[in-house]
Amino acid sequence: MNFEFSEDHLSVQKLCREFAIKNVAPDLRENDRAHKFASGLLPGMAKADILGLCLPEKYGGAGMDYISLGVACEELEYVDTSARVVLSVHIGLNSLTLLSYGNDFQKEKYLKPQAQGEKIGSFGLTEPDAGSDVVGIRSTAIRKGNKYILNGEKMWISLAHVADNFLIFAWTDLEKKNQRDHRGITTFIVERSFPGVTTGSIEGKLGVRAGNTGWISLQDVEVPAENMLGQVGEGFGIAMFCLEQGRYTVAAGSTGLIRACLDASVLYSRTRKSFGMSIGEHQLVKQMIANMAAGHEYSRLLWLKAGWQRNQGNRSTRETSLAKWIACREAEKAAADAVQVHGAYGFSDEYPVERYYRNAKGASIYEGTREIQTLMQADYALGLRKDKPRRCNLPPWPFPENV
Ligand SMILES: Cc1cc2nc3c(=O)[nH]c(=O)nc-3n(C[C@H](O)[C@H](O)[C@H](O)COP(=O)(O)OP(=O)(O)OC[C@H]3O[C@@H](n4cnc5c(N)ncnc54)[C@H](O)[C@@H]3O)c2cc1C
Repeated sequence: MNFEFSEDHLSVQKLCREFAIKNVAPDLRENDRAHKFASGLLPGMAKADILGLCLPEKYGGAGMDYISLGVACEELEYVDTSARVVLSVHIGLNSLTLLSYGNDFQKEKYLKPQAQGEKIGSFGLTEPDAGSDVVGIRSTAIRKGNKYILNGEKMWISLAHVADNFLIFAWTDLEKKNQRDHRGITTFIVERSFPGVTTGSIEGKLGVRAGNTGWISLQDVEVPAENMLGQVGEGFGIAMFCLEQGRYTVAAGSTGLIRACLDASVLYSRTRKSFGMSIGEHQLVKQMIANMAAGHEYSRLLWLKAGWQRNQGNRSTRETSLAKWIACREAEKAAADAVQVHGAYGFSDEYPVERYYRNAKGASIYEGTREIQTLMQADYALGLRKDKPRRCNLPPWPFPENV
């Protein structure tokens, strides 16, 4: 067992840390206040080779391992959640799924430009009336010759208004839709440029305000049958696979957020004085700081274990869900305490901790809510849930030749 980062991990850490400080931090407060997605973020990440970080070199990616993806997420979210969300969506939810389920044509046409950062991928599962309850989605995809006609509305989609390609989940079997049988859902690669696709941004969010979250409307969109990902009726399983990769990035990112809360609290508690001493000398303030340090440590160990499992090519649904649940829980607590440590100043955006608090809340909702992760862990413990082998898994790292 080795708890040390390799030279490669350290170089990814340095790259992403410097990238976030130079490219995300300077305009962050203004962008967060204005709900503005920085137009230079995606080209900047592409130029720094971050958008293809753990995708094979064969497709133009950087060929790093899955732990590198976690390291990058930690560093980006240390500065702001909006930057980490890009990796969650573009790599976690979309590109790793194309890598695992895509055929040669789809990898060449869609994965390659995404790995090179020329195109941005996103993930459209949630709808206005269905989030946790995936079989509650209403979107349909009806076969007509060598095309499918897609209709539906997707809501709360990260990067909806800026991405080029979407993974869309829709019912191909209307009988199964009526029976709520998930084997009637299929996945499609939909391009923004397809006629009938429109998108917009959601305004007035609590957090991730410097990020783009939006909606996708599909009106009689003709999607070539060759853009179906996986097999007919495999969409639910693919959606769960996507979410598992997304959860991994959220777990690692939330660990970075805990570290940001800890560092800000340590700094402030050294300088702010009350009752003739630094507030950091009061035992109850120390308690909050100790909790952040502990939460950071075990959140990191959990995502590292999930990352290690990925490198082995093992399915890690349970480990990843646990890492996501715990890291998000600890990030919410750390952010609430970081505001507390800052007293009234924590309540204004003069200090970043109020942003951490707003951003931490979102992660307990997306990529499977806190309650869904809790239920999953309970079901594993009670023996009610066991992971079956999948038709596709993430390829192990180092990537085999035939990936
Ligand atoms: C910032 C942001 C970005 C997002 N990005 C994306 C994206 O890129 N793509 C995408 O497809 N979606 C995205 N989402 C949507 C997100 O995945 C959903 O919000 C999430 O799945 C929860 O669904 P919901 O909001 O419909 O809540 P609901 O499912 O309606 O749940 C409401 C509440 O009920 C609880 N609940 C529901 N069912 C149960 C149950 N069986 N047992 C116990 N409690 C339950 C939930 O935990 C929650 O507390 C994003 C959301 C946010 C906020």
